[in-house]
Amino acid sequence: MRVAVLTSGGGDAPGMNAAIRAAVRAGLDKGWQMFGIRHGYKGLISGDIVPLGARDVGGIIERGGTFLHTARSPEFETREGRLKGLNMLEQHNIDAVLIIGGDGSQTGARELSEEGCTVIGIASTIDNDLYGSDISIGVNTALNIALESIDRLRTTASSHDRAFVVEVMGRNSGYLALMSGIAGGAEFIVVPEVPSTPETVAEEIRSAYQRGKSHAIIVVAEGAECNAEALAQHFREHNWRLGFELRVTRLGHVQRGGIPSVFDRLLGTRLAASAIEYLDRGKHGIMVGLINDEVQTTALSEVVANKKGLDMSLLELAKVLAE
Ligand code: ATP
Repeated sequence: MRVAVLTSGGGDAPGMNAAIRAAVRAGLDKGWQMFGIRHGYKGLISGDIVPLGARDVGGIIERGGTFLHTARSPEFETREGRLKGLNMLEQHNIDAVLIIGGDGSQTGARELSEEGCTVIGIASTIDNDLYGSDISIGVNTALNIALESIDRLRTTASSHDRAFVVEVMGRNSGYLALMSGIAGGAEFIVVPEVPSTPETVAEEIRSAYQRGKSHAIIVVAEGAECNAEALAQHFREHNWRLGFELRVTRLGHVQRGGIPSVFDRLLGTRLAASAIEYLDRGKHGIMVGLINDEVQTTALSEVVANKKGLDMSLLELAKVLAE
């Protein structure tokens, strides 16, 4: 067998390297030849395919990001682009591909699978919006980084009687905002899934002040209509009397970088090693994820057809806890 590994997505996720390492070494243990496809689907189309030995994946488990690089590839969303990719796989005599990435990447995996390619997906996105995995590779590290920043901002906020708006990642998913907000004791959480207005946010900040709080932390997801930029502009123009002095911080890409947590290294390792086992048993057209703390598989067609929603009861709980 000749098996290639590819990391794909709008962004890298901490723990992807652990997954690549595990896939390569577990595959070599089967006596297979292992390869890396660099720069995601873009590299698949251009044939950027390199052999990977055990030593090539040494010293990467502790590194964030993906040493195979990742990229967006609009061309791969066209059938013409995908056929170019399939042609490259044929030229390199690749029998199967492991695709580590989020929902867009798994959609690409499903398309490849439908063209007859042997594909297994591995759940990886810091948005944690992927159906078929309770938690995806990268989420735990991203949450811990966001939380550390929130904790630091809370310290300075409480010394200065300030309110801080902290924007965390999540274009369409409020998962990081919700979970880091609850864990960081936020006074209010803004997610893309629930419409909010700057007036609502102002009201929450004012109310926290009136309840005698020494500071307020508002966690917002970047994809919310009412994100950091919208709030900063609104408060500049309307000069609301919030009680607190307001500061706005965007965490941005710091959430992707850094050292992968123990959880993400183990998750990446377990999911990728299991993907190799499934491949060995002749299973494909599936994505490997963690469900109820066990490695489980879901058909790629099912992964793509469903969306994992946000647990709204946790958003309600966050309101209660902000009292
Ligand atoms: P993240 O959650 O980190 O953003 P993602 O996998 O959802 O990860 P996307 O940028 O949505 O990231 O998708 C990655 C790549 O997957 C795209 O650049 C494209 O090449 C491929 N892809 C996305 N949608 C499709 C589709 N409908 N058909 C084929 N390929 C697709």
